[in-house]
Amino acid sequence: MSGVHNFKSLSAAEAIVKQVKSGKAKTAVIVGAGFIGMEIALLLCALGVKVTQIEMLDQVMATMLDGETAAIALDLMRKRGVNVRLNTKAKAFVGKRKATGVQLASEKVLEGDILIAATGVKPNLELLEKSDIDHNWGICVDDHLRTHAPDIYAAGDAVEVPDRLTGESFVHANFPNAVEQGRVVGLNMAGYDVRYEGGDRMNSLKHLGLPIMAVGLKQGDEVLQEKRKGNLRTLYLKQNRLVGFQLVGDIHPAGILRTLIVQQSDISPIKHHLLDPNFGQGMMVWQAVTPYM
Ligand SMILES: Cc1cc2nc3c(=O)[nH]c(=O)nc-3n(C[C@H](O)[C@H](O)[C@H](O)COP(=O)(O)OP(=O)(O)OC[C@H]3O[C@@H](n4cnc5c(N)ncnc54)[C@H](O)[C@@H]3O)c2cc1C
Repeated sequence: MSGVHNFKSLSAAEAIVKQVKSGKAKTAVIVGAGFIGMEIALLLCALGVKVTQIEMLDQVMATMLDGETAAIALDLMRKRGVNVRLNTKAKAFVGKRKATGVQLASEKVLEGDILIAATGVKPNLELLEKSDIDHNWGICVDDHLRTHAPDIYAAGDAVEVPDRLTGESFVHANFPNAVEQGRVVGLNMAGYDVRYEGGDRMNSLKHLGLPIMAVGLKQGDEVLQEKRKGNLRTLYLKQNRLVGFQLVGDIHPAGILRTLIVQQSDISPIKHHLLDPNFGQGMMVWQAVTPYM
């Protein structure tokens, strides 16, 4: 419906900013409190727009954040002035010639100068209509990112790949995954034999005033947690292997923690260091060297 924005192009985002700066738009309603909806809400708020954000679930960023980290993000959003309404389901965008509001499941209509649908990304697979390339939600590929059609590969937000940790197949729509898939496809098309190791769940929020980063799973058979001076570090382990982490505030160990997830090696020897605020590369090197001293 015209009048509904979905942030699929830079020019669409620029048009909204222009509308706000010209004083023509003072209120916004955003449907969805996933990662993209949250960032748009914060940025519009920073431009002085009165933002209402509705989310049908009982927490923000439910795919990525555990309950505790999500509660911190929600609190920060509200402190920044975003009116986040959880457990609120949108039914339809409504208006005469163009959308002017969002109708809720309760039938109430929330009017807004700017209306945004941020309910998730769906691959546009029109291109495949006349082909016999298989797809579900995204294009199906094998472990070398080959489609079922000879000599046709697929990579990026249009493709369904297994998750590195769970093997579950879905569209892992983020930039690092797209780049890695592009690398694997490029090498395989050039004649190398490269297996794709699987997509990574990861996300970060940069505009909250306090960085938040989440990688991997948000459950395990063991949970390590440290709260210190406004920072929160939660680590999820399965059989002494790191399978996920959530960082609030101090995100400096993210790179090393992600490497531990990718390697899936037994972390028992360093487990007691993982919550140390100084945990980092220096400590790992020291650990590696000291047994020989
Ligand atoms: C608002 C927003 C914010 C994001 N922020 C982040 C972030 O902070 N960090 C992160 O890791 N990821 C982020 N992402 C996700 C990231 O942008 C994507 O995962 C990444 O761009 C995927 O790369 P891609 O090459 O598959 O697709 P794209 O970057 O979308 O590139 C696909 C290209 O193909 C072109 N195209 C499509 N159909 C056709 C056709 N039929 N013929 C010819 N050309 C065609 C498109 O025009 C486009 O240029 C964000 C996404 C959005 C929408």
